[in-house]
Amino acid sequence: MDIVVQKFGGSSLASVERIWRVANYAAETHRSGSATVLVVSARGDSTDELLELAGAFSGDQFSDRTTREIDQLLVTGEVVSAALTAMAIERLGVPAVSLTGAQAGIEVAGKYGGGVISSIDPKRIVELLEAGNVVVVSGFQGTNAEGDMVTLGRGGSDTTAVALAAALDASRCLIYTDVDGVYTADPRIVPTARPMPFVDVRLMAEMAFAGAKVLHSRAVELAAMRGMELQVLSSFAPGAGTRVFEGSNDAMLESDGAVVAVTHDFDVARVLVQARKDLAADILSALGRRSIPVDLVARSGPSEDEFRMGFTARLGDIPEILAVLGEAIPEADGQVRVDRDVAKISLVGMGLLNRPEYAARMISTLAAEGIFTTWISTSQLRVSAVIERGHGANAVAVLHREFDLERAAAAAGSMTTA
Ligand code: ASP
Ligand code: MG
Repeated sequence: MDIVVQKFGGSSLASVERIWRVANYAAETHRSGSATVLVVSARGDSTDELLELAGAFSGDQFSDRTTREIDQLLVTGEVVSAALTAMAIERLGVPAVSLTGAQAGIEVAGKYGGGVISSIDPKRIVELLEAGNVVVVSGFQGTNAEGDMVTLGRGGSDTTAVALAAALDASRCLIYTDVDGVYTADPRIVPTARPMPFVDVRLMAEMAFAGAKVLHSRAVELAAMRGMELQVLSSFAPGAGTRVFEGSNDAMLESDGAVVAVTHDFDVARVLVQARKDLAADILSALGRRSIPVDLVARSGPSEDEFRMGFTARLGDIPEILAVLGEAIPEADGQVRVDRDVAKISLVGMGLLNRPEYAARMISTLAAEGIFTTWISTSQLRVSAVIERGHGANAVAVLHREFDLERAAAAAGSMTTA
């Protein structure tokens, strides 16, 4: 059985008319002879609306009991999309069945609001496909060992799609969104940004981690691990979109030492810890146990009398981070400062570690615009800097120009046809 997984984001399902469009795509795929699995997100901004509603009752205090109830609430957004989409497909004359994450056999480990898919039992999906149905699965969710619903983190429906594609051994995994592919920078900020015909999966993983919203970063990691090619396409306009796959050696040679994209992350805060004793290992292991990702980690050296450490984290994780630090810090007679007025700007490309001039050019280009880079970190695939939030959009635009990304995107295009 040739299986195709098609994922549709919230904006693709935001109105009745758009749901019909998605239903038509699914019916067409089904009629072309492929067993079709749809993964859907909550409609439009409904996840944000549910979160805002929850805020009226949850307060700011971080607690596991609150996050459990928030997950119970959030999963409903995707369930609504799935049921409506299945009804629309059925009306087009193609049998369709919607399934929640639990009904689709998706098991999740980890905490509420940040679950990780641990296994999928695709038996029910396969039976429904074999019986000739289109199967519409609610993205972004699964059940844990207690049978509770757990969500996969914002944007997590992409990860549902990739995990299902892997579990079903699908021939294609198509991610439909509101832009026609992966861009050299967010096109809403940089109008001259160009769609890229392909992106190496490792660079895509780096871009997603550095804030590119187009794909959930764990979806890309999973695709890399399973050797699964993804295609990012617009659900509004025809076009080839972007292929995300493990680049051939030739493509890698060409892009070695080149910046391919500028990514920004405004969902970020900077945390500074000061204490009388060294807490680095304790703090990092406590954050690790709670699966809280941090970036740009720096710490004072052993010869200084005071211990200082800094890192960036997601804004939404700050209450939990403060709870974790609240246990360690008072004992060490220390203090914590959180700076929420920051942005993380990243250059993404191959072989950047061998090119320190990129970091230098980044700093001086931003300085010429009056933008001061506080922290900076470099790796093989990424140079990231922390700046003031208010300068975020301008920083992305000037770096995009400085690194000639319009031309780089055109060159990448000619490479695919070469
Ligand atoms: N609806 C969820 C969100 O807004 C999941 C997703 O869209 O992938 O984050
Ligand atoms: Mg998304």
